[in-house]
Amino acid sequence: MQGASESADSWLLTLQHSPIGMAMVGLDGRLLMVNHAMSEMLGYDVEQLTQRGFQELTHPDDLDADLALFEQALAGELDSYRLRKRYLHAAGHVVWGDLSVALVRGHDGAPLHFISQILDVTAVERERQSLEAVFETVGVGLLLIGRDGRYERMNRRHQETMHLPFPDGHEGTAGQLGHVYHPDGHTLMAREEMPSYRATQGEEFDDYTYWVGDDPLTRRAFSTSARQVRGPSGERLGAALAYQEITELMRAMKVKDEFVSSVSHELRTPLTSVLGYLELLRDNAGLADDVRAQVQVVQRNALRLQALVSDLLQVGQVSEGSLRLQHADADLAALVHDAAAAARAGAGTRGVTIAVEAPDRLVAQVDEQRVRQVLDNLLSNAVKYTGGDGAVSVVLREEADAVLVEVSDTGIGIPPDEVDQVFGRFFRGAGALDRHIPGTGLGLDIVSSIVAAHGGEVSLESELGRGSTFRVVLPRSPG
Ligand code: ADP
Repeated sequence: MQGASESADSWLLTLQHSPIGMAMVGLDGRLLMVNHAMSEMLGYDVEQLTQRGFQELTHPDDLDADLALFEQALAGELDSYRLRKRYLHAAGHVVWGDLSVALVRGHDGAPLHFISQILDVTAVERERQSLEAVFETVGVGLLLIGRDGRYERMNRRHQETMHLPFPDGHEGTAGQLGHVYHPDGHTLMAREEMPSYRATQGEEFDDYTYWVGDDPLTRRAFSTSARQVRGPSGERLGAALAYQEITELMRAMKVKDEFVSSVSHELRTPLTSVLGYLELLRDNAGLADDVRAQVQVVQRNALRLQALVSDLLQVGQVSEGSLRLQHADADLAALVHDAAAAARAGAGTRGVTIAVEAPDRLVAQVDEQRVRQVLDNLLSNAVKYTGGDGAVSVVLREEADAVLVEVSDTGIGIPPDEVDQVFGRFFRGAGALDRHIPGTGLGLDIVSSIVAAHGGEVSLESELGRGSTFRVVLPRSPG
């Protein structure tokens, strides 16, 4: 018996020193016994607390929920219950508690009292509320999808835009088809392309762009990112998606493309006429030498202008999706030699050499004129961004079902933070701007769109101050 009473004592001691608030609660709700943690949590002495009922310590807004469960337990419908609720501290502020209640019954089964345990979760709750406020107020739509693809939570911003792609409502499962279009604005997205579906398949992505809405006039554009949500052992719990509206940006880009395209169309006709007359003028035998030299300067600059206009026109074609290729058998070895020979004129005056390493013949089915444009752009950049005594080399090689062209230089190189940007339209690197090297930032954009239209890939390796290597891989035949 001694042992039993000792263990009862040590049990009581444990209760008294437990960091969790504990109370024995009478059937009328009055606190019969409380521990230190409980009195500290609510700011009352133990004696003060044992004169009160939980009803007066509970925040009025949470009282009904607690009372309902309390009554159910008394009625024998529950043995225990759990509730997150607010208490009123003696100083007047609110304390959040995670309450667990168990009903203790006598031998005859009649209820004796309740044992309540309360964990102070005020800090956790405050953190949750701050996150909740951020979740609801950010200007980005947020969606949380469960492992099975069911929508678990979305913020108000996301809710507000759901009617556009899904005017008849959404079933709350990833991959539901709706009015969701590719960036071209008219190709509908297939289920496997829907961002929510891709995220449910475990994919992570950034800046996935598309339009939503049936009516082209009110359609809106979004850029979406997805990340997987994982548990402590790395198991997949679901996915989180963030949707940013970019309608204004997309419309501005469209206007810019249309502007560039219409200006370049307008420039082309008068420029052709200027060049034609300059040719006639230059051939005029009666021209004094100094005037002829001036005409040549005008002609050179007009030709530069023509090259720029044709670059702009081509960029416009890519934006409109009207870049068409004319595939035919072409000897890339000859093409590379021709391009290198043409680039040597300009390279020579800068003291840059151009070496070619290519097989005698390498035939691929490509659009010869476009591939020549790729080579011309890469070579003219290599020469342009390489100072005196530099070297440029072109390597052409056969690789499985593809051909590889590498254009390397010993030039100024490209800093790591620009490597991903140089293929962007109108992008000009700091090295080019600082050295006042002329350019438009269109060359590599054209290169990448021609290579992509061939189903190929272009990549870049560069070291600042040491040089760059552009690597183009083209399939030997289309499709
Ligand atoms: P542009 O040469 O007219 O500026 P591009 O699209 O051809 O436009 O190139 C974009 C940018 O990439 C350039 O402004 C330059 O900073 C960088 N770049 C391109 N090729 C090279 C190269 N071979 N070496 C160093 N920098 C380069």
